[in-house]
Amino acid sequence: MTTTITRRGLVLGAFSGATLLHAAPDTPKTAGAPFQLPKLPYATDALEPHIDARTMEIHRGKHHQAYVDNLNKAIGGQPSLTGKSVEELLRQLQQLPESIRTAVRNNGGGHANHSLFWQCLNPKPKPAKGAFATLLGKTFVNVAKLQEQMNTAGLGQFGSGWAWLVTDGKGALTVESAPNQDSPLMQGKRPLLGIDVWEHAYYLKYQNRRADYLKAIWNVVDWDFVSARYEDRAR
Ligand code: MN
Repeated sequence: MTTTITRRGLVLGAFSGATLLHAAPDTPKTAGAPFQLPKLPYATDALEPHIDARTMEIHRGKHHQAYVDNLNKAIGGQPSLTGKSVEELLRQLQQLPESIRTAVRNNGGGHANHSLFWQCLNPKPKPAKGAFATLLGKTFVNVAKLQEQMNTAGLGQFGSGWAWLVTDGKGALTVESAPNQDSPLMQGKRPLLGIDVWEHAYYLKYQNRRADYLKAIWNVVDWDFVSARYEDRAR
């Protein structure tokens, strides 16, 4: 599902982003196989009370670790693919051997999505800035309206998946949702911010109340990181 954004937003977004040269592919951020669980840039209890420590421990230590382990298993027997970043693997998914394509889609997607997710969160988040803040205002009016669209995308995602803020080749911003661990990289887009709406991301604290989790998480989303990521393709 792609959520509706205003036509004005789309046009202005595409126009103002056109000079930002976002067409070039990302500089690979993650090293190639064997892939590793990235260090968390804050303590597991740092996002309390919005995201509880136990959820962080299991989410990262069990779920994310399993994506890393299963991705390594899938790539292990493919010497031609060693050295490729997980982002490269996802962009080239359709060119991968069919025998590992689903495993890379699910586990490579899981590794890339969660690696980004941890960085988007911060116990002391800062507001959007620079060209990203300007474009955000032109596209969505303000951060609150963007959050509303992200929440609509997250609530509308049936079952497991993600709400995404992505940028296309021209630098325009759009909100989307995707099932499972599918990455916007698979569609030739670049994820800037992902909100995990799998039950494992919130069930211990929020049980079935996905809306409450989605409301709370904005307290720890670091728009400063998203701004920097938008402007610096290496992030
Ligand atoms: Mn997750």
